[in-house]
Parts: sequence; structure tokens; C-alpha cells
Amino acid sequence: MRAAWACFDCRKAVRHALRTPDDVVCPQCGDAAPYLGYKIPVPRRRDIKAWRALKADLQRAAQRTAEAAYQDRVRCIHDLEARLVDLETRPANEGRRRLIAQLRAHLERARSMGPTRCWSRW
Ligand SMILES: [Zn+2]
Repeated sequence: MRAAWACFDCRKAVRHALRTPDDVVCPQCGDAAPYLGYKIPVPRRRDIKAWRALKADLQRAAQRTAEAAYQDRVRCIHDLEARLVDLETRPANEGRRRLIAQLRAHLERARSMGPTRCWSRW
């Protein structure tokens, strides 16, 4: 299956079978071409309206992805805080002390990162 990348300035699409999503450039202007995916139909070059609509769709999709990642991080921070409160009310022991230190470090990272996914579930 061939994936597509597109330059919105030149309204040109590039197709490749196997490439990482972010190393393709526009053959016309040489700028980085954003990744479209496998299933998105590429408009005809002269169909400026369709190119604008496609760009707006991609921007909305990127926005949704960023919002989902943000929500995920907020949820992760809440989960970690709740877990820490619970652990700190229990009797201390070596294993628990170590786990609390790990969770605190993870919480620190989760708080300092920009919007990003928190993969670990504790
Ligand atoms: Zn271009």
C-alpha cells in the first residue's frame, strides 16, 4: 500500500510505499511535505477549493489529536496524584517507599512535559 504526502503550497502529492511519515519533501519546492496517510484522496492540482478543505480537515484532526493528548496527560496526573495520596496513607515499608519515589518522579515528568501522551498506567 502506498501512503501519500502533500505540499499544500504547490498542491502536489508524493506517494511512497515505505517511508517514515516525516522524511518526505515536496519534489517541486523541497519543503517538508506533511503526511496524509493511506486513505485520504488527494485532490486534483487545479482544485484549489478541495486543497483548502483538505488542509482544514488535517488541521482539525491535528487539533483533536493534541486535545486528546492533553486530556490524557491531565488524566495521568490525576491518577498519579490519587495513587500517591493512597500510598502515603498506608504504613511505610521499603517497597512502598521506592514506589512512591518512582511515582513522584513520573508525576514530575508528566507535569513538566507539554501536551503528550502518558503511556504508563500505574
Ligand atoms: Zn512544494
